[in-house]
Amino acid sequence: MSRCLFCDKDLQRGGDFVQNQVGVLLCKTCVDTAGDIFRRKAASDGDPLQTGANKKKINLASIIKKFTPMKIFDALSEYVIGQERAKKVVSLAVYNHYKILSLIDSTDVEFEKSNILLLGPTGSGKTLIARTLSKILEVPFAIGDCTSYTEAGYVGDDVENVLLSLLIDANYVVEEAQRGIVYLDEIDKKAKTAENKSISRDVSGEGVQQAFLKLIEGTVANVPLTAGRKNPMSQQVAKIDTKHILFICGGSFVGLESIIEKRIRKDIGMGFNADPQPKDLVDHRMFHQVETEDLIRFGFIPEFIGRLPIKVALDGLDRSDFVRILSEPKNSLIKQYSKLFSMDGCEVLFTEDGIERMVDIAVQRKVGARGLRDVFERVLREVMFSLRETKLSALRVDKTFVDQQIALQESMKVQKLHRRPTTPSQETFRDEDNDKALPA
Ligand code: ADP
Repeated sequence: MSRCLFCDKDLQRGGDFVQNQVGVLLCKTCVDTAGDIFRRKAASDGDPLQTGANKKKINLASIIKKFTPMKIFDALSEYVIGQERAKKVVSLAVYNHYKILSLIDSTDVEFEKSNILLLGPTGSGKTLIARTLSKILEVPFAIGDCTSYTEAGYVGDDVENVLLSLLIDANYVVEEAQRGIVYLDEIDKKAKTAENKSISRDVSGEGVQQAFLKLIEGTVANVPLTAGRKNPMSQQVAKIDTKHILFICGGSFVGLESIIEKRIRKDIGMGFNADPQPKDLVDHRMFHQVETEDLIRFGFIPEFIGRLPIKVALDGLDRSDFVRILSEPKNSLIKQYSKLFSMDGCEVLFTEDGIERMVDIAVQRKVGARGLRDVFERVLREVMFSLRETKLSALRVDKTFVDQQIALQESMKVQKLHRRPTTPSQETFRDEDNDKALPA
C-alpha cells in the first residue's frame, strides 16, 4: 500500500511524495500544508528566521544600486504601453521610496512616504503598473479591492485583510511584507456620497477612509492569519507595521472631471455656461489637472488625500494603443496565444486586418484594454478546444476568421437563451446534444 499517512491519498495514482527510512509516506499537499502551518506560527510568534527561509530577501541596497528612475521606467515600458507621464512619476516615486528605506537607519532626517494615487479610466493600466513595479523590484505585492472593505464590525472584509495577502506573498516573512507594495483598487468607491454623509458610522465612506488613513500612514496592524472575518476564538495573528509599505491607490473617479472643470472655470473667471463641453463622454484628460480640493469635493476627507502626496492621471487608451498592446509587451496576448498554440504543434498567424477587427470589437466594449483578452478567448476558443484532436498545423487569424468565430459564439449564446426553462435538478441531468432531460 502506498498511501499518504496524513490524508490517506493513494499515491500509486500519481503525485509527489516523501518517504522516510521505514517506508512512511507523506504526499506533497500534506507536506506543503504542514510547512504553511509552521510559517504562520512563526509569523505569529514574530520569528522571522523560521519563516520563508528559502525566499529571496529584499535587498534595499541592491534595488538602489541596480535601478535608477529611468531604468524602472524602461522596465515598466516593457509591459505597459503609453501612459508615459504616469510611468515617469511612479518610477521616480518608487525609487525615492526605496532609497529612503535604505537610509532610514542611518539618518535623522524624517521623510514623508510617497504613497501614490492613480486616476484613470477602467482598463488603462493602473493595476498593471502597480503589479509590474513589484515584479521588477522583486518585492511582495498585494491587491485589495476597496469595494469589499467596510469599517470594522460591519459585514464585509476588514481593511487589514489585504495585509494577509501581502504576508502570504512574502512567504510569511513579516519583515519582508513590511517593505512591500499594496495596491488598493477602486478607492473612488469609498468617497463619501451624498446619501451617506449624514450617517455617523457608515459602511462606505468616512469610516473606511479613517481605517485606510491609519493603514496608509503607518500603524501596527493585527493581521489574522486565516482569511475572512476576525475570529474571536483563539486566532493566530501577525503584527505588521505598515509604516514602510508603499500604498498605491487607484480608481476611475467617474464624475471627478466635472468637479475639476467647474473649478477651472471658476478660477479663470468663466461662467458655467460658457463653451459647454459635450457631456456624453467622460473627459479623462481633465484628470491631469486634479487638485486636492477637487478630491475633497468628490468625497474624500482631507487627511486621507494628504497621505497620497503623489497624484497622477492615466490617459484613456485609443485604438492605436490597443494594437500596440496586442503585440509589443513582453507578455502580449499575441505572444501568449502563439505560444499556447505552438505547444500543440500549431503555428498561428495574426494578420493585420484580423488584429484590427479584434481591436474594433474590444473598443466597442468600453472596458479599456481589459476587453482584448475576452475577444481573444472568444475568437480562439473553439479551435483551441479541439486542437489536439484536429492536429491543425497552421491557423490564419484574419478578419474573416474573427467574424466567423464571433458569430459562432453569438449563435451559441442565442441557442442557450432559447432553451426551455428548466428546474436546477433537471438542468443537472440534461443531455446537451439531444436537448432532452435524461432520467436521473
Ligand atoms: P485598471 O486601470 O482598471 O486597473 P488594468 O491595469 O487591470 O486596468 O488592465 C487590465 C488589463 O488590460 C491588463 O492586465 C493588461 O492586459 C491590459 N492593459 C491595460 N492597460 C494597459 C497598458 N497601458 N499597456 C498594456 N496593457 C494594458
